[in-house]
Amino acid sequence: MFCVECGREGELYEGLCGECFLAKNVFVTIPENIDVEICVHCGARKKKKRWILADDEEFILEIIKENVSCEKGVTDFDVHIMSNFEDERNVDVSVTTFAKVHDLKVKEEHETKVRFKKTVCYECSKREGGYWEAKVQLRSGKRDLDQKELDRALELLDLIVGMREGKDKDAFISKVEKVHGGLDFYLGSKNMGKAIAKKLASEFGGSVTESQKLVGRKDGKNTYRMTYAVRTLDFRVGDFIKLKKRLYRMLSMSSNKVLLLSLDNRENVHFKPEDLEEAKLLGGGELVREMVVVSRSDMEIQVLDPDTLKTVDVILPEGFNAEGDSVKIVKFEEGYFLVGEN
Ligand SMILES: [Zn+2]
Ligand SMILES: [Zn+2]
Repeated sequence: MFCVECGREGELYEGLCGECFLAKNVFVTIPENIDVEICVHCGARKKKKRWILADDEEFILEIIKENVSCEKGVTDFDVHIMSNFEDERNVDVSVTTFAKVHDLKVKEEHETKVRFKKTVCYECSKREGGYWEAKVQLRSGKRDLDQKELDRALELLDLIVGMREGKDKDAFISKVEKVHGGLDFYLGSKNMGKAIAKKLASEFGGSVTESQKLVGRKDGKNTYRMTYAVRTLDFRVGDFIKLKKRLYRMLSMSSNKVLLLSLDNRENVHFKPEDLEEAKLLGGGELVREMVVVSRSDMEIQVLDPDTLKTVDVILPEGFNAEGDSVKIVKFEEGYFLVGEN
């Protein structure tokens, strides 16, 4: 058998010797230009129907693989690329393809250009459009949250959003609203809303109640918006409170535990947040007075009350360090109590 092209004798492929067969055929085609949409806000690129964030080189290889087409009978196909960024959005790509046709090895060189077209991805258009899925309401029961607490809440919000950015495309804040007594956060995802609500409840002590509202139907399914209402404790760390005729100072709190210091014996006592519902707020750190020590014994010290200019006996709790010329005291109708660093 002879090649009809060059007359060489040997194995033939569609009437041609191997060399002529390879020379006469192109087995792989690739478009001259490949257009890819890229989001101007987040840099995500569109691949088929999805928006993805990916490494440039890796992404270009995937795009090339998607856009090459092989003739029938091509097996063991592989692609190598060399990309050259002409500028940010235009990439010249040299494509080398390896394949087998029958038992012949085929290597081809192609050139293409990947062009990134500026657009806005679905998630960013949601974000820009003020879309939200979850609302977190931060409130206190009987008082307004102070500026320090509001600042801390915003700090926690940024922290949690920051942790999820890049992993969760809905991790965005649509809006933060300062409302009477607290804050409202409008968020891109329910999961994030829930995470933030939990974090706030554990930071400020308090509870979260969830509610959902039907807002419409999408793809045949009901869509809901969630509200996470965070109700913080009415007390802050450092506050003095009265509970069941005893006096305490708030040491710390979380969503399910409150640690109080009993003023008379200086013992730490744990409570549940709901135990504090009937507690009365006496005041905060502003109640603490510096008083001069006049004399001291094992069990007591005598201090000068600057308001009455009278000397008062104050019981010295066991192990309490009341050295120095003056001590910190808080006074209530129940008596005078020494206050430590907390
Ligand atoms: Zn030939
Ligand atoms: Zn985007």
